[in-house]
Amino acid sequence: MGVDFRTQAIHAGYEPLDNGRAAVPPIYASAAFDLGDAARGDALAGGDIDGFEYSRVANPTVDALEKRLATLEGGIGAVAVGSGMAAVSYALMCAGEGGGRIIAPTDLYGASVDALGDFLPQFGIHSDFVKDINDLEEVESKIGPDTRAIFAETVANPSTAIIDIEPLAELAHSHGIALIVDNTVPTPYLLNPIKFGADIVVHSTTKGITGHGNAIGGAIIDGGNFDWPNGRFPQFTARQQVISDDRTGEWHSFAEKFGKAAFIKRIRIKYLRTFGAVQSPFNAYLSLVGLETLPQRVSQQVVSAQRIAEHLTSAPHVTKVNYSGLGYTPQYELVGKYFPRGVGQILSFQVDGGADSVRRIIDGTKLFSYVPNIGDARSLIVDPARITHREVPAEARIAAGVSDNLIRLSIGLEDVNDLIADLDQAIAAAY
Ligand code: PLP
Repeated sequence: MGVDFRTQAIHAGYEPLDNGRAAVPPIYASAAFDLGDAARGDALAGGDIDGFEYSRVANPTVDALEKRLATLEGGIGAVAVGSGMAAVSYALMCAGEGGGRIIAPTDLYGASVDALGDFLPQFGIHSDFVKDINDLEEVESKIGPDTRAIFAETVANPSTAIIDIEPLAELAHSHGIALIVDNTVPTPYLLNPIKFGADIVVHSTTKGITGHGNAIGGAIIDGGNFDWPNGRFPQFTARQQVISDDRTGEWHSFAEKFGKAAFIKRIRIKYLRTFGAVQSPFNAYLSLVGLETLPQRVSQQVVSAQRIAEHLTSAPHVTKVNYSGLGYTPQYELVGKYFPRGVGQILSFQVDGGADSVRRIIDGTKLFSYVPNIGDARSLIVDPARITHREVPAEARIAAGVSDNLIRLSIGLEDVNDLIADLDQAIAAAY
């Protein structure tokens, strides 16, 4: 098979010959699968062979999506889950379980801030927030004996701030901790964090990957490079009944049984099996279809987002534009290093006045849909302070740049001149 991203986006992870020669991956609407004979059933249940038993743990349609995403991100394996938040929560819990700590910026999607700051502590996993995730001294000052991982969004939503993955990964690895990144905003087409040293990548497939705003989903992709049995992660070296056979006295830990795949296997065998936030085969099918056009969609959206960002910088009543693709942002040099194809289709801007001006502009747009989502074929507009980042405490919200006069846009596939005209008329009418 070809190695170009556009080719893999269409073909990777799916073999028509194994699927009744269906050209498009079929939706396997089956809760369970025939185990064959008793020996095969035993081997499947023990995790000794690959295959399908029960769709909470694995399903052929979902499997095709997992394999395709692993290929597109350059990972050794992936697990698709019911939502982006399931992917974030499972990945953080799998690294932090048993009293670990996670270092993260507050410049994150609102529910991730809530998980780290408020909810995961209820499960004994605590966070150390930093002001600037690219300030290595600040990050290093937070590393302690219980630190398990650094977590950040590769391109933050909605500030579009970029993380400098390489030095952050080096710092993490020099202390034996993992780098987990949320790569939702750029999608694998614009950035492959594993190539730069990230260990685990999570996605909300709801966004650019599926691309049409029609299915909630998430995925965790494992780079396969991290040394989990390094002494910081007892969960990977402890013997586990679920992957052992007490009849024969064979006991295994995840690290010993699965080696470099210990993390992604633990996600499937412990997290998916017990917490059960499974991705439905129908949603996986929609994501597979969406992925086929990911490069073409995102390419156009990036060009439009750049034009709109440039236009807004000189638009009346716009006081600040956040788009890391603009030459004047402090992070512009990172764009050249990590984002030769652009930083994505999300941008945000501040306007004169406060929440009232924002409300008038949102209500005045005719083409933009007022929707708490990103990465759709439709262009979307939202007021993050009221909607997507509402649960973030005020101090952290301001630190993440989510002020009351901020508007976020997700640029779709409409004609860019139509989109600019719509924003111009809404802003003019609001004042
Ligand atoms: N990560 C980022 C960066 C997001 O923007 C979102 C948006 O909702 C999520 C995670 C959560 O994804 P989902 O809504 O699919 O649970």
